[in-house]
Amino acid sequence: MTAVSSQSQTIAKNSYLYDAIVIGSGIGGLVTATQLAAKGAKVLVLEKYIIPGGSAGYFERNGYRFDVGASMIFGFGTQGTTNLLTRALEAVDTSLETIPDPVQIHYHLPNNLDIQVHRNYEQFLQQLIQQFPHQAEGIRNFYDECWRVFNCLNTMELLSLEEPRYLTRVFFQHPLACLGLVKYLPQNVGEIARRYISDPILLKFIDIECYCWSVVPAEKTPMINAGMVFSDRHYGGINYPKGGVGQIAQKLVEGLEKKGGEIQYKARVKEIIVENNQAVGVRLADGREYRGKRIISNATRWDTFDKLLPIEKPKKEKKWQQNYQKSPSFLSLHLGVKADLIPPDTDCHHILLENWEQMEEPEGTIFLSIPSLLDPNLAPPQHHIFHAFTPHWIDDWQGLSPQDYHQQKQQAAARIVKRLEKIFPGLEAALAYQEVGTPRTHRRFLGREDGTYGPIPRRKLRGLLAMPFNQTAIPRLYCVGDSTFPGQGLNAVAFSGFACAHRVAVDLGLY
Ligand SMILES: Cc1cc2nc3c(=O)[nH]c(=O)nc-3n(C[C@H](O)[C@H](O)[C@H](O)COP(=O)(O)OP(=O)(O)OC[C@H]3O[C@@H](n4cnc5c(N)ncnc54)[C@H](O)[C@@H]3O)c2cc1C
Repeated sequence: MTAVSSQSQTIAKNSYLYDAIVIGSGIGGLVTATQLAAKGAKVLVLEKYIIPGGSAGYFERNGYRFDVGASMIFGFGTQGTTNLLTRALEAVDTSLETIPDPVQIHYHLPNNLDIQVHRNYEQFLQQLIQQFPHQAEGIRNFYDECWRVFNCLNTMELLSLEEPRYLTRVFFQHPLACLGLVKYLPQNVGEIARRYISDPILLKFIDIECYCWSVVPAEKTPMINAGMVFSDRHYGGINYPKGGVGQIAQKLVEGLEKKGGEIQYKARVKEIIVENNQAVGVRLADGREYRGKRIISNATRWDTFDKLLPIEKPKKEKKWQQNYQKSPSFLSLHLGVKADLIPPDTDCHHILLENWEQMEEPEGTIFLSIPSLLDPNLAPPQHHIFHAFTPHWIDDWQGLSPQDYHQQKQQAAARIVKRLEKIFPGLEAALAYQEVGTPRTHRRFLGREDGTYGPIPRRKLRGLLAMPFNQTAIPRLYCVGDSTFPGQGLNAVAFSGFACAHRVAVDLGLY
């Protein structure tokens, strides 16, 4: 092939008009892409990193396969409508083997408050009631109210709330469930918990139950999300994908390609091309351009509107940024640990907090996952993976010399390991491998401004009403992922992906 014909082929390919171009292959982006491809759309996904998944990706070192972020996975149930990861895979004729987790979280809280959230609802309630017998009725009433939210969600197909025909259909099919959800939309968990519970420590427990996935306490956590999380863990349950969390994205990509979609790696979008005030394409860092009828950004809203768009941020986004701020990032320790340290019957996920006042502080709450307890193939024989992470702000990691940066990482890691010795005495001596990620690592590898975990309300807002859906103020530009309704978490961004694909498909005339 001559240089000229190869160049003209590149130009022809690049100027090809896709139905949809998705910026980023996080789970939100991939669910959107696969849903659209399954409906016959011509889809291109552009991912700046070398593998798909974003915060649900993985990396391998010395025989360990570490999840970069998520390890506690909702959405792999087999019944109802909230099992969105199962459904997303099925839509592109694929599936994943999963391993059920009998305990969602083992809490290690101040004053030796030790609680396991069992998959079995009654077993969980009994354990909590044993600790707070004077609040037995309140505990049951509170968690039962969460089930009422879940039961409404779990009767209906979860699609775009921005599509009037869908809303009408769902309303006529499930009028009571819809009215139930409308009632809960503007409510936060804190106000409902206080209706039933008065013990201040039990209210703190409800706070950390929210904090461990929403990174805000109950009074700022929407009831819709809590209804989903607090009930689905006992319904569909927590299920770990065999081979690691990275498999979810890998399988979605396989499905995407089977349906005729394309994905390119090392393809960093530098700019969304806007013409006549509409999004019409993207320009990559290496100068290539692609045109699409619809452009979907899986980057955070801060990255999308402050960095990728060449025009002034729309008023709607400015308003959103007044309501929501970036949550801190995390300091992550990826550890290889000798297996003989770990007692039999150890749970996979742990939360450690010694002082309630520190719950939201950097290095206050420590999250720990040991997924190799569920899938031993993730670590070399006689070893386990520990992923310990705790909130940290990027500002504390900026402007350091390479030596100071390295030293600060080692010091922080040593503090976390020391605290984890409370659950695993002898941990330091049993370490076989250690890798430390900081907010800078999260920013760099996940492409998220300041390495943020996602948006959190600046103040108490009315439930989920202020969270944006998928359409944006720029015609033909959509957002998907954890800075859209309903927020962070793999099943939540899968929801956002279903909703986004639905709205885009209707706009493209594919529905
Ligand atoms: C430490 C940690 C622990 C977590 N634990 C859990 C858990 O246990 N359970 C759970 O459900 N959730 C958990 N989460 C949250 C969950 O992982 C996220 O909410 C979810 O994965 C976010 O998905 P997303 O679709 O919004 O996109 P992201 O995962 O942010 O992916 C976006 C993708 O877009 C790419 N991208 C960005 N900009 C560009 C660009 N300009 N050009 C091309 N590509 C671009 C990025 O490289 C990335 O691949 C955790 C997160 C972290 C960080």
